[in-house]
Amino acid sequence: MKLGKFNLDAIDTGIFALDAGPMFGVVPKALWQRRYHPGDENNRIPLAARPLLVQFDDKVVLIDTGNGNKFSEKQANLYGIDLEKSSIISALKKQNVEAEQVTDIILTHLHFDHVGGATIFQEDRLVPTFPNAKYYIQKEQLNWAKNPSPKDAASFLAENIEPLIEHAQLEIIDGEGELFEGISLINSFGHTQAMQMVQIQSEGQSLYFLSDTVPTSAHLPLAFSMGYDNFPLKVIEEKKRLYPQIYEENAIICFEHDAFLQAATLATSEKGFIIKDKIEITL
Ligand SMILES: [Zn+2]
Repeated sequence: MKLGKFNLDAIDTGIFALDAGPMFGVVPKALWQRRYHPGDENNRIPLAARPLLVQFDDKVVLIDTGNGNKFSEKQANLYGIDLEKSSIISALKKQNVEAEQVTDIILTHLHFDHVGGATIFQEDRLVPTFPNAKYYIQKEQLNWAKNPSPKDAASFLAENIEPLIEHAQLEIIDGEGELFEGISLINSFGHTQAMQMVQIQSEGQSLYFLSDTVPTSAHLPLAFSMGYDNFPLKVIEEKKRLYPQIYEENAIICFEHDAFLQAATLATSEKGFIIKDKIEITL
């Protein structure tokens, strides 16, 4: 789709599966299964890992990189990952974009389902997947990844981060603001320390890529937060701050992990903010 001067594509890197318990935190199964999916025989639900491709002028910008395909067969089975589909290189080729063309990558945070595609094996050496790109991360997120809480320690894998530092392709950003004209970073401290969400604005239109603050459309209600969140009350505060703004702007909100819905606009109801129009960024 077009959003003013920006060409946007939702990049399909396949489906993975996680236990629904931690995905919905304190919410009982009776409630989440109606809103999302009943779960498989192991109580796992299907999740997308859907980066956003943003093209304008001479820039090819990618927001997040999906799970990537460096997993062992055992890990791939555990997370229900199809290693062929989870390759960000193959996924981008479907949009006629080669890895060499990507100029900039905004990493919302360093959990493996967002940064797994950032590096690949070249023979047996780990290298950045995008040889000509700058990768952007928040300073406090990088520090957190180096010294994480026991809660999210297992989500940070050195193989996804170290090669970017070794090849001097990691740009460390300290705080919020406009990265490119019309593309702004908004910091979030609920899911993990200093996650960066992205707002895209052009010609009166607006889109929010909120990453794991609202991972699926089923997580719209304030109390529907993930057990994975490090600071759950902050997630609620952030949703309370963002929703009215998204609603006022009639902006599009992206659901990076929603296997069934790419994006939507919001309406108000007596139960709070709900989905107004369902939006497909890329068919
Ligand atoms: Zn995630």
